[in-house]
Amino acid sequence: MTLTTNAISKIFGMSGAPDDPSFTPIVQLIHVKKIDNKSTADDRYRTILSDGDRHMSGMLATQLNYLVENGTLENNDILKLDKFMINELGSGTKVVIITSCEKLGTESNRLGNPQDILKVGAVAGVGGGVNQSAAGGGGGMYGNVQNQCGMNQGMNNNQGGMSNNQGGGNPYGNNSAGNNPYGNKSSGSPIVRTAPTGGQQITPISALNMYSNRWVIRAKVTNKSDVRTWQNAKGEGTLFSITLLDSSGYDVKCTFFKESVEKFYDAIEEGKVYTFSGGRLKVANMQYNNCKSQFEITFDNNSEIHLDEEGDAIQESYDFVKIADLENMEPGSNVDILGVVKSVGDVATIISKKSGKEMTKCELVLEDDSAAEVRLTVWGKEAENAAQKFAHCPVVAFKKSRLSDFGGRSLSGGGASVNPAMANAEQLHQWWGANGNKTQARNLSSAGGGGGNRDTFESRKEVCSIKQEHLGNNDKPDYLTFKATFNFIKREKAGGDDGGGCWYTACANSGEPCKNMYKATQTSDGNWHCDKCQQTYPNCVRRFIVSACVADDSATTWVSLYNEQMELMFNGVTADQLYTEFADTGSKDSYDSAFLKATYTEWIVTCKVKQELVGDETRTKTSVVRMSPVDYAKESKNLLNALAAH
Ligand SMILES: [Zn+2]
Repeated sequence: MTLTTNAISKIFGMSGAPDDPSFTPIVQLIHVKKIDNKSTADDRYRTILSDGDRHMSGMLATQLNYLVENGTLENNDILKLDKFMINELGSGTKVVIITSCEKLGTESNRLGNPQDILKVGAVAGVGGGVNQSAAGGGGGMYGNVQNQCGMNQGMNNNQGGMSNNQGGGNPYGNNSAGNNPYGNKSSGSPIVRTAPTGGQQITPISALNMYSNRWVIRAKVTNKSDVRTWQNAKGEGTLFSITLLDSSGYDVKCTFFKESVEKFYDAIEEGKVYTFSGGRLKVANMQYNNCKSQFEITFDNNSEIHLDEEGDAIQESYDFVKIADLENMEPGSNVDILGVVKSVGDVATIISKKSGKEMTKCELVLEDDSAAEVRLTVWGKEAENAAQKFAHCPVVAFKKSRLSDFGGRSLSGGGASVNPAMANAEQLHQWWGANGNKTQARNLSSAGGGGGNRDTFESRKEVCSIKQEHLGNNDKPDYLTFKATFNFIKREKAGGDDGGGCWYTACANSGEPCKNMYKATQTSDGNWHCDKCQQTYPNCVRRFIVSACVADDSATTWVSLYNEQMELMFNGVTADQLYTEFADTGSKDSYDSAFLKATYTEWIVTCKVKQELVGDETRTKTSVVRMSPVDYAKESKNLLNALAAH
């Protein structure tokens, strides 16, 4: 197999990421080995790459570890480096961090007779000098690392060290041992913290580096998420994330966990400028991160964050796309949009497909002077505040809104800046005043199509398609919407405690993290204890959980229904009301009559279909995520239109 000529010399001559993203050299992995480093939580793999002529050291980004662990990557494999970057360790030592690669094949031997580029230098006339500084120049403070074995050292610093070096120091890391006051710090040494003073060395986000942990960045918060809860094998807790943008034009995603959520959530405001230090870098997982920086930052309780309104304002840069052009773009990409908010929809609650959690959303319609309009969904607090924030048809710039092809084209999320001070915003405002609001814009999104909605008339399916199309067999759940009648609603709950009703007892805490969702169990003294928030309350909240059978003229299927849908079906009667009536009167009359009234009613039902493992057999589970009563007038119109189209 042919290796890219002089690839290693070229790579060695670069700083940071390649200027030309189409440079995807083919090299041989002549060595891959786990780094023996007990101080880091994550495993790391060291690599040596060769072009047959030179070789250099590197490291696999942790998200690629599985390639070694599952035996895909081995010594002498031929790799195409799709994404990589250079980290400089000082003294001209560089390592290549592979963040994305493709295995093209393998060889039985090392190809050519490669020499260590650190010993023999780059091939004459190829690549840059060895003393180039990092991309963006700036004050990256590189660790005190001299050679390849220094990689362990660099990572020790990165993981353990959180010291917060303010002021001068030696930004370019003169690497002769003993000369660098910050080098060689073991993770156990005392951590020095000083309150920021003027004149601190600011590192541009573009120059952040795995091997420097003593940076200070000055950046604007362009996006701040709601507080979310997470749960996995290691435990549970809260988190929120922010996006920072600085004057280097780079943005970076940062996350706060647990105690640091309490400490910093309220203090950090979107749109303001702060200095940040004492965070930990990791290579970003680009699947979930659309920032320009290849790193993410985790801040903890000891991080230092200070408001800085003195210095220069940080201008956001946009790369606006006209709404009419969205049709020709790839779904899944992120776009910057400048548009007039033509209308603001109602705030709605939906169940997230990914997490199963409730989320609030609000749909905006944006129009621009390309005479097209598109739906954009905002989420969480932004959705709750949408009616005020986007009132009176403002011009809004959305940064990195995600384009999807649900119902034509639609957008989701993104950092919103209302009436931004820019010339093209002013032009658009005038255009709207003069004629925009009178023209008929072409609508790229079909009604109700985006953000998980698929219940348009055109996209409806029949109940039989669950079986016929083998829905639920994929990694991600499938969704479908049909019109169907509930012909049987099971009144008994499996297990049948607590009055035998088809509900469960949930935590009385309506706020985070429980939101009346988690199960509460009665204690011996009659109170209710919740394992989620570890609190005991005098009462609980009952929530419906029901199995029912739905049918259309194609098939019948069992579905699960949860609280919201059952309250809808019971005309607003809650599980607690039914329980109380039962407890007060000792009669199940109202309980039975609620079920009787709901049986044989017709609904537009949206279901999630997913295979579950029950014991050792798989079972297709169909859950109702949304339903609405049939609007017969609208339904008839849709049917007539569909007939006319045939
Ligand atoms: Zn609770």
